[in-house]
Amino acid sequence: MSDNHHKVIIIGSGPAGLTAALYNARANLNPVVFEGIQPGGQLTITTEVENYPGFEAGIQGPELMDVMRKQAQKFGAKTFFKEVTKVDFSKRPFVVESGKEVYTADAVIISTGASAKWLGTKGEDEYKGHGVSACATCDGFFFRNQKVIVIGGGDSAMEEANYLTKFASEVMVVHRRNEFRSSKIMEERVRKNPKIKFMTPFAIKEILGTEENGLKKVTGALIENTKDGTTQEVEVDGIFMAIGHKPNTDLFKGVLDMDETGYLQVKDSSTYTNIEGVFAAGDVADKTYRQAVTAAGMGCKAAIDAERWLADQGIE
Ligand code: NAP
Repeated sequence: MSDNHHKVIIIGSGPAGLTAALYNARANLNPVVFEGIQPGGQLTITTEVENYPGFEAGIQGPELMDVMRKQAQKFGAKTFFKEVTKVDFSKRPFVVESGKEVYTADAVIISTGASAKWLGTKGEDEYKGHGVSACATCDGFFFRNQKVIVIGGGDSAMEEANYLTKFASEVMVVHRRNEFRSSKIMEERVRKNPKIKFMTPFAIKEILGTEENGLKKVTGALIENTKDGTTQEVEVDGIFMAIGHKPNTDLFKGVLDMDETGYLQVKDSSTYTNIEGVFAAGDVADKTYRQAVTAAGMGCKAAIDAERWLADQGIE
C-alpha cells in the first residue's frame, strides 16, 4: 500500500473527529484527520465554554480544541490542514481526495459537523462574538439581566428563547411570519413565559452597535415589518440566530443515507452508516443534542465501532 493509504481516515476535526482520533490512535490504528477549512470546528468561533466536563473554571473554545488536537497527536494521530473535496465509497479501500491528492482508507469516520445558518444581514459579521451569537447554550450566560432577541420561528427558536429567560431580563422572538413552524406545545410554553415578547412579522434589517475602548458591543437592531415595509429600532444587548443548522454533508449526497434535512443516518444507536466501514459521529449525524460533549461521546463510539469492524476484516 502507498504512503497515502491509512487504516482510518477521519473527516472533520471538531470534538467528534478529534475524540475518534484519540481513541483510534490509542488502538494503534494511526488515524489521519482531515481538519477541513475550520480546524477545531464550531467551538473555535465561541468564546468561553463552561459546560464541557473537566474544566471547572471554563475554557476558551479554541483552546479546548487545541488541547484535544494535541492529546490525539500525543498518541500518534496525524492531523492535516486539508479539506476533503471528493470521496468514493463504492469500493474498498475507500478513496478520499483533497484537491489533486488521492488517499485511501480501510475505514472512514465522518465528523464534518453542522454549521449554524446566519442571516447575512448588515452588522452581523461585525458583531459576531460581541453580542451576536448562534448558540444560546454557549453564550446565554453572558446576558444576565439584559435584553436579547431570538430570530426564528422553529423549535430551536422556541427552545433558545425559553432557555435565555434564565438569564435575560427580556427576550424578544423576532420572526418573519405570523405563523410559527415550531411544535404547538413549544410555542405555547414560550407564549406563557412572561419574560418573552413576540415581534411578528418582522425581519432584521441591520444589527446596530458601538465600539468603546476597542470593545464592540451590540446596542440594538433595525427591524422591518415584512407585510407593510415599515421599520423601527429596538434596543437590545444580544441577538441570537435560531434559523436552523445545516449539516455539512454536501460531499456525501447520493452516497450516504440522510434524512430529509441532510443529516447522516446511523443504524440504531451505533455510528454505522449504510456503507459498511464508513461511520458517522457528532453534529453531522445528530440534530437533537448538538453539544460538544455529546459529539465527543459519539466520536468515541465511532472509533470503537471502526476498530471492531476493522478487526473483523483482519485489519488491526
Ligand atoms: P427550522 O425548523 O428549519 O426553523 C427555522 C426557522 O428560522 C423558521 O421559522 C424559518 O422561518 C426561520 N428562518 C430561516 N431562515 C431565515 C432567514 N433567512 N431569515 C429569517 N428567518 C429565517 O430549524 P430549527 O428550529 O433549528 O429546527 C430544526 C429541526 O430540529 C426541526 O425538525 C425541529 O423540530 C428540530 N428541533 C427539535 C427540538 C426539540 O424537539 N426539542 C429542538 C430544536 C430543534 P420560516 O418559518 O418563515 O421558514
